[in-house]
Amino acid sequence: MEGNDVDLLTLRHSAAHILAQAVKELYPDVKLGIGPAIEDGFYYDFDRPEGFSPEDLERIEARMAEIVAADIPFRCREITREQAEKTFADEPYKLELIAEIEEQTLTAYEQGTFVDLCRGPHAESTGRVKAFKLLSVAGAYWRGSSKNPMLQRIYGTAFPTQQELDDYLARLEEARKRDHRKIGRELDLFSFHEEGPGFPFWHPKGVIIYNQIVGFWRREHQKRGYLEVKTPMILNEDLWHRSGHWDAYREHMYFVNIDERTYAVRPMNCPGAILIYKESLRSYRELPLRFAELGLVHRHELSGVLTGLFRVRSFTIDDGHIFCRPDQIQSEITDVIDLIRTTYEKYGFKDYRIELSTQPEKCIGSNEIWRTAESALQEALKSNKIDYQLNPGEGAFYGPKIDFHVKDSMGRSWQLGTIQLDFSMPERFDLEYIGDDGKPHRPVMIHRAALGAIERFMGVLVEEYAGAFPLWLAPLQVILLSIADRHVQYAEDVAARLRSEGLRVSVDARNEKTGFKIREAQLQKIPYMLVVGDREAEAGKVAVRQREAGDLGAMPLDDFVAKVRNELTD
Ligand SMILES: [Zn+2]
Ligand SMILES: [Zn+2]
Repeated sequence: MEGNDVDLLTLRHSAAHILAQAVKELYPDVKLGIGPAIEDGFYYDFDRPEGFSPEDLERIEARMAEIVAADIPFRCREITREQAEKTFADEPYKLELIAEIEEQTLTAYEQGTFVDLCRGPHAESTGRVKAFKLLSVAGAYWRGSSKNPMLQRIYGTAFPTQQELDDYLARLEEARKRDHRKIGRELDLFSFHEEGPGFPFWHPKGVIIYNQIVGFWRREHQKRGYLEVKTPMILNEDLWHRSGHWDAYREHMYFVNIDERTYAVRPMNCPGAILIYKESLRSYRELPLRFAELGLVHRHELSGVLTGLFRVRSFTIDDGHIFCRPDQIQSEITDVIDLIRTTYEKYGFKDYRIELSTQPEKCIGSNEIWRTAESALQEALKSNKIDYQLNPGEGAFYGPKIDFHVKDSMGRSWQLGTIQLDFSMPERFDLEYIGDDGKPHRPVMIHRAALGAIERFMGVLVEEYAGAFPLWLAPLQVILLSIADRHVQYAEDVAARLRSEGLRVSVDARNEKTGFKIREAQLQKIPYMLVVGDREAEAGKVAVRQREAGDLGAMPLDDFVAKVRNELTD
């Protein structure tokens, strides 16, 4: 890397300053919020009651280009609190920030006549921000709280080169086309309603996909010796004190009153599995005990961050809780890793990154158990020949963990799977098993999930496949298209045969042109379209069109059944 290269965050943060300068020059009455760099770009919050129109954004962008062309240096200046208060006397939000800063010396950054309160760092001059673009504007509460005024957040992005910016914008356009909220509406999979913000409603076709995911989940878990459990969604306050969620997680939990006592709607499923474990005296021979639960949880999220299925307030975790002896950790982890890999392969995700996070400074459990657990995790990864990134000291306070980050076809990364060892819950709930020495011992608890939340995973899948689900997941697998009314009966007969084979089939018997019916079926992303007319009816054949491959020609119905069966068992 060349010495004068600016890192991406600095570049984007500098672009945010340029954005603020442009806005202040064009609209002097606007009050400034803050303007950080974010993962894919930057934003700046402005107080402007009338908002910003697309035309405003164009004007601002043009002004930014002038500021960049003028190549104005960014200058850092140390100022006293009094100077800061004077400089920003007309900026109420900046004054609020100044009041919260403890140091007596503050830093201000100037480019030309524009000055902003900021710690830096910035590029040398505005000319460094060569490739940038304003993307959108959205309402955002000052400091994320609905008690505060609603500001206007302008989003933008910046890259070191025009080529990188163009590539990014192309990916963004592709992502827009694949937006699961849009496709979910078009394919009639799910919806959201004001009556339950952040709580998804699954439509019949969405439920089919959901149940297919669950079916695969169930088969894989049965194969691996998991025992499926179902535990209550509402449990009393004492339990959440004991589990520690009350202290650590209360603001994300919902509460209800039953018989004048407080109960919480579960934000996690762990306590249910623990209470089942405690039901009887466990022997070392019973371990490992693997409980699997599709646990519906509710977590409070600020309304501003809710995003389709990606960020919801209720979701189902493909949860699992394993209770095992310390000497069983490695083999259990190996099996969980295999389960997670098998799961991703089933959905076509081949590219994923694994991170191992180890003992943090503040933690519970002896150093000995941490060493045992960490080396078990490492050995399990090594024996599976899995590359991983080590995050020393980044584990949870209750145990080390492995996270799976899955890459989708657009290069975006999703943290889906997780394997967490837990030394805390067994302590808090005083879990025991009787060892071969006849004495009580503490089991280790493993929390693990492959998909994380099924709802969010469905959102990822919709975008990954752009709605064109593989045959086994597709809500409707085959549609019969009759050419004329006299072929409807044959179409119905074929449909009945396919249904008896367990396929999801419908008949389009409308009096419409075949080309029109094909186009509609194509828009609905149905994997197979079978056109039937005189020739097909006479010969017991079907003319097969496949969603991606197009016309496959006519074939005997039995051949089509064999072909589809084959595809489903792959
Ligand atoms: Zn700055
Ligand atoms: Zn758990």
